[in-house]
Amino acid sequence: MTAKQRIIIVGAGISGLAAAFYIKRHKPDVHVTVLEAADRIGGKVKTIYKDGFTIECGPEGYMARKKGLTDLIKAIGLGDQLVHSKSGGYSIYVNHRLRQMPKGAVMGVPTKLLPMVTTGLVSPWGKLRAAMDLLIPHVYQDRDLSVRTFFEKRLGKELVANMIEPLLSGIYNGDLSDMSLEETLPQFASIEKKHRSLILGMKTLRPPKQKEAVTKKTGAFVSLSGGLSALTEKLADYADEIRRNTSVSQINSGRVTLDDGTVLNADAILLAASPKQFGPLLNFPEAWALSNDKRSSTATVAFAFKKEDVEALDITGYVVSRKEQLHITACSFMDRKWPHLAPDGYAFVRTYVGTPEDQALVHQSDAAIAQAALADLRTISRIGTPLFSIVTRQIDNMPQYTVNHKQRVHAFENALSTIDGVFACGAMLHGVGLPDCTENARQTAEQAVHYLNTLEHAHS
Ligand SMILES: Cc1cc2nc3c(=O)[nH]c(=O)nc-3n(C[C@H](O)[C@H](O)[C@H](O)COP(=O)(O)OP(=O)(O)OC[C@H]3O[C@@H](n4cnc5c(N)ncnc54)[C@H](O)[C@@H]3O)c2cc1C
Repeated sequence: MTAKQRIIIVGAGISGLAAAFYIKRHKPDVHVTVLEAADRIGGKVKTIYKDGFTIECGPEGYMARKKGLTDLIKAIGLGDQLVHSKSGGYSIYVNHRLRQMPKGAVMGVPTKLLPMVTTGLVSPWGKLRAAMDLLIPHVYQDRDLSVRTFFEKRLGKELVANMIEPLLSGIYNGDLSDMSLEETLPQFASIEKKHRSLILGMKTLRPPKQKEAVTKKTGAFVSLSGGLSALTEKLADYADEIRRNTSVSQINSGRVTLDDGTVLNADAILLAASPKQFGPLLNFPEAWALSNDKRSSTATVAFAFKKEDVEALDITGYVVSRKEQLHITACSFMDRKWPHLAPDGYAFVRTYVGTPEDQALVHQSDAAIAQAALADLRTISRIGTPLFSIVTRQIDNMPQYTVNHKQRVHAFENALSTIDGVFACGAMLHGVGLPDCTENARQTAEQAVHYLNTLEHAHS
């Protein structure tokens, strides 16, 4: 009888744990060990349960249209926990006021004329400049460029500063000046390629079905009623063994070396650790090129309030223009978006601190971060005294997809493919959103299973 094949997964974030699930689904008889440096699993996915609140410290949900993750959730038996976000407007805090995003704007890019003409977000000159998009020749020429260069050339600096930048930096926590267009917003590159004008091209994008969806009461995101940690906990059940507090220092073909010098052998190894670990663990130039790329730090502050202590604005959140020079970059009224997160009569407000240009506050104490965030929130709307706050930091742990990221990933994957039985997935490679991570984990797990099957046949 031949010995059971073994695979080691490094990193118990959503990527590593989803990979464990997919490997077991395709090859139930392989022994899967997950090594995790921290004392808990989940990585950036972290739900804390306190006084009846379900506090999401990392991701809060994902785009409902990305069906792969929903299929995964159903496959592991959590389908009955799926909840849709409530729809509600998002505003932008700019020029010292909360202003509504004009109707029809997609990622800050206008698609309708009338709401743009009447919005106070951009000056008359800014609007005129944006309208020049209708005449301007192609900016994207099949070569990657920064998101800022692309949008400023098409729509002008003011619209970028007041509408696009606050939204995108809220989502990607990045600096538009070096953010890769091809990797972060490929859809805009293709629209421009096909229609030249973004404004005209975006109009054609919305299928009739999507128009209907916008008028419905549910938002575009889904999550789990028990908190997203339920997902990582459940996925972890598929691994044969999970070792916490086990940090890996080196990966070679068939061999993993731990920080304490212990060497573990395996038929295949799948790296799913944090972005900065690719270089040190794999130690080849293309891996270093990825992990030496820009990363940023951020902190989220979750505040619990009595409902009456939070001004009842008619929105589910807002983003803050960098021109305002506040510490916070975005704020979500989480209980309005996700009623399951707070008990009746209470409010849960979450705000983000830390931009690529201003990382200092993220390194200060929890109390200092919470105090600065609260002061900023109070500049914008009426907010009382919180019942408690929870600060969560990601230090140097947010990957930034800078210009030519795609080419670096391609070079990395080519180099990795020359090392027998070593695979990699994770937010560093093909998208930071949870659905992108799980899709990348699925594909990588399938490659690993194919490799193991080939090994098995060669030995039989
Ligand atoms: C505040 C915040 C909000 C977000 N909101 C959303 C959202 O709403 N929707 C969405 O889709 N996405 C969101 N994201 C993005 C998403 O959460 C992440 O991209 C995703 O969780 C990354 O998963 P991962 O498994 O690739 O990496 P990680 O979660 O970083 O996991 C990597 C794991 O590897 C471990 N590790 C590192 N080094 C070693 C080592 N040497 N040895 C062993 N283990 C190691 C780490 O401890 C960690 O557990 C958010 C992220 C943050 C931080």
